[in-house]
Amino acid sequence: MKVRSVRDATVAGKRVFVRVDFNVPLDAGAITDDTRIRAALPTIRLLIERGARVILCSHLGRPKGKPSDALSMRPVADRLAELLGQPVRTVPDVAGPEAATAAAALTGGEVLLLENVRFEPGEEKNDQALAERLASLAEIYVNDAFGAAHRAHASTVGIADYLPAYAGLLMEAEMSALQRLLDEPQRPFITILGGAKVSDKLGVIENLIPKVDALLIGGGMANTFLLAQGHAVGLSLAESDLESKARSLLEQASSRGVEVLLPTDVAVAADLDSALEIVDVGSVGDDQAIFDIGPASAARYGERIASARTIFWNGPMGVFEKPSFAAGTRAVARAVADADAFTVVGGGDSVAAVEQIGLAGRISHISTGGGASLEFVEGRKLPGLAPLLEES
Ligand code: ADP
Ligand code: MG
Repeated sequence: MKVRSVRDATVAGKRVFVRVDFNVPLDAGAITDDTRIRAALPTIRLLIERGARVILCSHLGRPKGKPSDALSMRPVADRLAELLGQPVRTVPDVAGPEAATAAAALTGGEVLLLENVRFEPGEEKNDQALAERLASLAEIYVNDAFGAAHRAHASTVGIADYLPAYAGLLMEAEMSALQRLLDEPQRPFITILGGAKVSDKLGVIENLIPKVDALLIGGGMANTFLLAQGHAVGLSLAESDLESKARSLLEQASSRGVEVLLPTDVAVAADLDSALEIVDVGSVGDDQAIFDIGPASAARYGERIASARTIFWNGPMGVFEKPSFAAGTRAVARAVADADAFTVVGGGDSVAAVEQIGLAGRISHISTGGGASLEFVEGRKLPGLAPLLEES
C-alpha cells in the first residue's frame, strides 16, 4: 500500500487544504493534552517552508452538525500559534463566505484554521455539496488526520473527488508503522491485548492469529477467556455470550502454533474502592471481580516481551485509572519500553496509560488514531486512505 506523499506535491503559492486531527481533550475550554496538535506540526511546517497557503480543518468533539461555542477551534488556534511561533488566522465559519474570503487572502507561508468541521451538518454524512464547498477553498488536498481515516466524511473522503489528494507526514508515519506489523514483522512477533471487552477486539484477534508468534491477553477481555477455560470469574466484567467464541479463538491459535498467555493470577476486589487481594485464577470468589493481572502473570508476560523483536500492544492489563489496579499495566509498559524490538502502542486508553507512566518516548511508534489504528490492524480498508493511494 503506497500513498502519494505531500513531500512530492508542488505547493508553493498554492492554497492547500489540510485535514488534521485536532480533536484534543478539553476541560472548561482549556486544552488538557496537545499531543494531536504537535503530531500535525511536521506537515504544517513542511507546507509553510515551501510557501504554501495553508488552510487547516479539523473536527473537535461531537457538536452534531450545529455550531457550539464550547467546541470552537479558537483555543486550538491559539495553542497552534504558540507551537508554530507565528499567527494562525481563524474564521467563524467552516466553508462559508468568511472562510472563502480568508482563504483567498492568505499569502505564502500563512496559516488559517477553519471552524470545527462538524458544525456543518453535511460533514458526517459525506455530503457532496459540502465536500465541493470545502474543496473550493483550495487547489490541493492533504489528509494528515489518521485518527479520522476510518470515517467516510466530507472532509476526509468527499473532498478528494474535487482536488488532487496527498497523504501528510503523520498519515504516512502511521501507515508505515502499522503496515510494518502486518508485513514481514521481525520475529518473534507478539501482540499484547487487553482493555475492556473481547467484542471490541474480535476482528483484531482474528486477523493477528495467523501473523503472530504469541498472544498475551489481559484486562477485562481476559475474563471471557478464563470463562472459556472453565474458571469462575465472580463479578468480573466478562462476556458470557462470547465464551464459545473465545474457546474457538484459543483453538485456532493452538492449531497454528501460536502461544497464548492468559493470566494465572489476578488482582481481585469486591469493587474498585475496596482492598485488593492476589489470587490464582481458579480461586476468584463469587463476590469478587478481577481488576488487574497478578504479579506472577506480569512477570511471565514481561519475560515473553523481553524475547520479542516486534510488539503490538492494545488495551491496558487492568483498571489502570485506579493506582491500586495499575501494577499489571505498568509492568507490561516497562517491559515493552525495555524490549529490544520494534514496538507499537495503539488505542486511546493504552496510549494514555503509556503516557501517564512516562514511557511514551521509549516506544517506537505511538499511534494517534485509536479506532483507526485498530481497524487498520484488523485488516480493514480505511475509507480515508483510499483517495491517497498511488493507483487511485
Ligand atoms: P484502548 O482504548 O486502549 O483500545 P479499551 O478502550 O478497550 O482500550 O479498554 C480500556 C478500558 O478497559 C480502561 O478504561 C480500563 O479501566 C478497562 N479495563 C481494563 N481491565 C479491566 C478489568 N479487568 N475490568 C474492567 N475494566 C477493565
Ligand atoms: Mg478505549
